[in-house]
Amino acid sequence: MAPGGAERSRLAVPLGGAGAAGSARGSGPLVLRGHRSFLPHGAQYSYLWVLVMAVVYQAVYRRTASLFCRLHSTYVRKMRYLNELKEDDTLCRQAQNSGTFFLFHNLSPFLQKVGKKYLVPQLSAAGALDKSVIESELKGSFTDLRKALFIVDGKDSSLMASAQSLLRWHDSHQYCSKTGQPTQKNMAGSKRVCHASGITYYPQMSPVVITLVSDGSRCLLTRQPSFPKGMYTALSGFCDIGENVEEAVQREVAEEVGLEVESVWYSASQHWPFPSSSLMIACHSLVRAQEAEWALTSLKDLSS
Ligand SMILES: [Zn+2]
Repeated sequence: MAPGGAERSRLAVPLGGAGAAGSARGSGPLVLRGHRSFLPHGAQYSYLWVLVMAVVYQAVYRRTASLFCRLHSTYVRKMRYLNELKEDDTLCRQAQNSGTFFLFHNLSPFLQKVGKKYLVPQLSAAGALDKSVIESELKGSFTDLRKALFIVDGKDSSLMASAQSLLRWHDSHQYCSKTGQPTQKNMAGSKRVCHASGITYYPQMSPVVITLVSDGSRCLLTRQPSFPKGMYTALSGFCDIGENVEEAVQREVAEEVGLEVESVWYSASQHWPFPSSSLMIACHSLVRAQEAEWALTSLKDLSS
């Protein structure tokens, strides 16, 4: 793509005007002038010239776009504010007065039924309230998360899953695993500290690989005896300590179906709250067709 689009120019100008005149780290035009002086003339170099311009513009664009984002992006502002809340107990306490809350009881989120929809009410009051009072006053119920995730709006479900995972983590990290002393959580709940040993504990997720094995034309699914009839799944398993994603995929496929993976490529990832917090890393993996053929004849389908 030819460099120098309207958006790039617009982004480059404010940086040059912000006191960077004369510096190679400044605006687009200044950098280009510096390069033009030692570029040879002639049509045969026009392609090179375009390439150099493209590289220079890309570098300037990246730098200015990143600065532009840092100064103006709503996302960056939001993330930085959230990070401050994690670190600053006083700021977090202030935010609690104006913030809204999800309600949980025994790790089950509170849902309100409004018409045919289930909503996650975001309430401004926080503290210990009686479960039955809440359910009758707010006309809803505390619902198992596995069910809740399927009936609430998508934007609420990931926050709800994260919230439950955090609550569960706090519940199971009340004591220091080195000294056995009680740990204290900070105001935001982003960490717990043992004041006897000085150890800080942060909420954790366990990495899990889930992979769709294919020989290029067919894919391999498996099932467990406990699955309902007709239900199949891609292969999955926890990463062992010290393993990277590719190694975990190769090992899981070898362990579970006896096939050797030739290549692995990443597809997507998702937080999964059950049974405790996991980071599901989805990959595709390719095995040799001949090996897959052998596996088909030796593997027994437990559904049959
Ligand atoms: Zn300790």
